[in-house]
Amino acid sequence: MSNGPIVLFGGTFDPVHVGHLRVCLEAGEILHADEVWLVPSASPPNRAAPEVSAAARAQMLERALEGQSVMRADFRELLRQQSGKPSYTIDTLREVRAEIGPKRPLIWILGADQIAKLDTWKDWQKLLDFAHFAVLARPGAPTPPHAVDAFLRAHRAPKSTVRSTPAGHICALEVTQLSISATKVRAILAAGQSARYLVPDRVLDYISEFGLYPRETDNR
Ligand code: ATP
Repeated sequence: MSNGPIVLFGGTFDPVHVGHLRVCLEAGEILHADEVWLVPSASPPNRAAPEVSAAARAQMLERALEGQSVMRADFRELLRQQSGKPSYTIDTLREVRAEIGPKRPLIWILGADQIAKLDTWKDWQKLLDFAHFAVLARPGAPTPPHAVDAFLRAHRAPKSTVRSTPAGHICALEVTQLSISATKVRAILAAGQSARYLVPDRVLDYISEFGLYPRETDNR
């Protein structure tokens, strides 16, 4: 059995777009990951509710990842919320760590926009007990508050450390920045325009099949 790094990428995926997929592919390569798991979040406590159901977001993700060998979806956060429990990253990391054992590198990727709000996450200072963080630069991300900034500095390490130890460090990850967000994709669809080449074709087919993200005029 391999003991290479497992990379986790959490997000709302409302909908999944090629910005997410490109990040996962490059991060997997840079971090020498055996597997990259995309982990859709249920209804994140610190942001607006997703526009479409958890089931639809899960289906879109499955379609986007069809035929992939390294990247796969992990639905534990959606399942946890279905059973009525709140869904926190700390619980996900604790669970995955228990599944993969104490030695294997586990790396949680997150955008600089998310790291700036890290102190709003449950038990944020304990997250590194279970995994590393790899932080993606994102244009326009706000500066983190002092406590988060101090935490980032205290745990900063090179990628080689993150790749070869189980948990506890934070590295920067330089990947191609595609100027795409799910917000932008939703706005394009709401305006009745095409999101082709921003979202995989199979996902667009699903969106049109189930009438997700309807044109705003269709709602009036
Ligand atoms: P929204 O616009 O609805 O906030 P989003 O496109 O930012 O969505 P999420 O699913 O909320 O996507 O984010 C999942 C993760 O993907 C976050 O860490 C976010 O920073 C990162 N991310 C999203 N789009 C990109 C992109 N184009 N390039 C790099 N990282 C991205």
